[in-house]
Amino acid sequence: MSAATPIQILGAGLTGMSAARHLGGDYALHERLAAVGGHVITVEQDGYRFDRTGHLLHLRDDSIRSWIETLLEGRLVSVQRNSRVFSHGVYTRYPYQANTYGLPPQVAYECLTGYLGARARLEQVPEPKSFEEFCLKYFGDGFSKHFMIPYNEKLWGVHPRDITAAWCSRFVPQPKLEDVIAGAVGLNDRELGYNTNFLYPKRGIGELTDALHRDLPTGAHLAHAPRSIDWRRRVLRFDDGDVPYQALISSAPLDTLLGLLEDPPDEVASAGERLRCNPLWYLDVALEVPCGVDMHWVYVPEERYPFYRVGCYSNFSAELAPPGKACLYVELASRQTPDMDALLPQVAGGLQDMGIIEGPEDIRFAQPRRIDHAYVVFDHDYYDALERILPFLQEHGIVSAGRYGGWNYSSMEDALIFGREAAAQARELVS
Ligand SMILES: Cc1cc2nc3c(=O)[nH]c(=O)nc-3n(C[C@H](O)[C@H](O)[C@H](O)COP(=O)(O)OP(=O)(O)OC[C@H]3O[C@@H](n4cnc5c(N)ncnc54)[C@H](O)[C@@H]3O)c2cc1C
Repeated sequence: MSAATPIQILGAGLTGMSAARHLGGDYALHERLAAVGGHVITVEQDGYRFDRTGHLLHLRDDSIRSWIETLLEGRLVSVQRNSRVFSHGVYTRYPYQANTYGLPPQVAYECLTGYLGARARLEQVPEPKSFEEFCLKYFGDGFSKHFMIPYNEKLWGVHPRDITAAWCSRFVPQPKLEDVIAGAVGLNDRELGYNTNFLYPKRGIGELTDALHRDLPTGAHLAHAPRSIDWRRRVLRFDDGDVPYQALISSAPLDTLLGLLEDPPDEVASAGERLRCNPLWYLDVALEVPCGVDMHWVYVPEERYPFYRVGCYSNFSAELAPPGKACLYVELASRQTPDMDALLPQVAGGLQDMGIIEGPEDIRFAQPRRIDHAYVVFDHDYYDALERILPFLQEHGIVSAGRYGGWNYSSMEDALIFGREAAAQARELVS
C-alpha cells in the first residue's frame, strides 16, 4: 500500500495533518485511532457539544492565520477573553497579580507587600532554577502563596519546585509595577497576557480538524499503528505488513515512539525513562440552565476545591448547548481515576459556591474523561533527556514533532507550525 512513499507520518492530529498538507501528497499518514484530530475534537451528547477542555485559537503566525481563516471561512467567532480567578469566595480578573482589587484586604496586602519586597531584592536574587524560585523572585511570596504555587501544583500535578524555570517566560506573564498598582486599586480595565483574544469555530474546535481532514491531499490510514520500528533498516512493522521509509515524521508521544523502537541504544532507552508527562481527568458537564457567571474560564487555585479550572463552552459559542442551557469543562486536580459518587457532590458544591449553578439539580450529567498525555513535566531532567533522544532520532531519519512528539508545552498554532517544519526536514532527509 504505502511502500512506494519515502515519507511516512505517524499520528493525524494537527501536527501530522499539517505535515501532510505541507508535503502536498507525497506521504502516507497512519493514525492509531479510528478518527483523526488527536486532542482537537468535539463530541456531542444529548445536544451538548464538548471539546477536550478549552481549545481556543490564539494565532500569531500570519500564514497559519490565513490558512485557518480560509479553511473555516464564515465559521469562526472572534472573542474577547473573559477569564477570572475564584479564591477566598470572590472573583477577580486574570492575571491574579494585576488584579488584587476585590480580594480580602489581608490577602491583597500580603500580595502587594510581597511583590514590592521581591522587586526591591530583584538584583540580589540569583537567576531562578525552578518555577517556584521564579515565582518567588518575580511575584513575591504573597502572590506565590495565594495563587502561583497552589494553582500550578494543581495544574501540573507536581510541585513547582520540581519544574525548571526555563519554560516560564512565554506562558507566565511577568508582573509590571504599574499593572500591579493599577490592579490593586481597581483600575485594570483590560485583559493582560498572551491570549487576550481568541478565535473559535461556532460548533466547537472539532470543526478545525474536520476542515483539515477534508483538505488532506491523501487520506489517513485509520486504526493503523505500527507494532514496532526497525530504526536501523528504516522499516515500520504493521500487523498487515512492513513499510519502509526514508524519513519518518512521528507526532505520536515521544515515550510511545521510543517504546516502538526495536532494541534502542541503552543511552536513549534510559533517557526515555526519565521523560515525565502527566495525564489529566476532566468532566464534561451539561447544565439544565444557563451558566450563572459571565465568563469563559475561571482559575481555581484553592486546595479545598477538587478542580483547578472551569470553563464554559457555550459562552465561547452559544451553538455548543441547546437554547437556555450550558455546557462546561471541569479540570480535576487529582490524576487518579475519579470516584464519581464521592466527587460529584464536591464538584456541584464548588460550582454552587462559584455561582455557576444554583444547586446539584442544575447538572444534567457529568461525564469523566481522561487525557493520557496532557502536560509534559519540565522537571530538572527534561533538557538532558531530550538532548540524548532527539539527535539520535534525527540521525536515523525520524523527525519527532508536535506537542507530545517534540515533548513540550505548545498550542494548536504551534502544532501546525511544527508540522510545516517537520515536512521541510523530512524533504531534506529524502533529497
Ligand atoms: C488540556 C489541554 C488544553 C489545551 N488547550 C489549548 C488551547 O486552548 N489552545 C491551543 O492552541 N492549544 C491547546 N492545547 C494544545 C493542543 O491540544 C495541542 O498543541 C495539539 O492538539 C497538539 O497536536 P499534535 O498533533 O502535536 O498532538 P496530538 O493531538 O496528541 O496528536 C497525535 C496523534 O498521534 C496519534 N498516535 C499516537 N500514537 C500513535 C502511533 N503509535 N501510531 C500512529 N498514531 C499515533 C494520536 O492518536 C493522535 O491522533 C491544549 C492541550 C491540552 C492537553
